[in-house]
Amino acid sequence: MKKKMIPSPKTKFLQIKCIKCGKERNVFSASTTQIKCDGCGQILVHPSASKAVIEAKIVKVL
Ligand SMILES: [Zn+2]
Repeated sequence: MKKKMIPSPKTKFLQIKCIKCGKERNVFSASTTQIKCDGCGQILVHPSASKAVIEAKIVKVL
């Protein structure tokens, strides 16, 4: 007897807005890399063990 495990996608795209300069960009909610603002260099996303820590204003979930 075989069971197939189909992983459901937990990652989402988030539209976030830089707190400092207001520039918006899209990021993965489970990003494993540090993401900096294109405009001012402010760190927007910190990677952590299980999920990304977002230090920006989340505009919407895409
Ligand atoms: Zn910025």
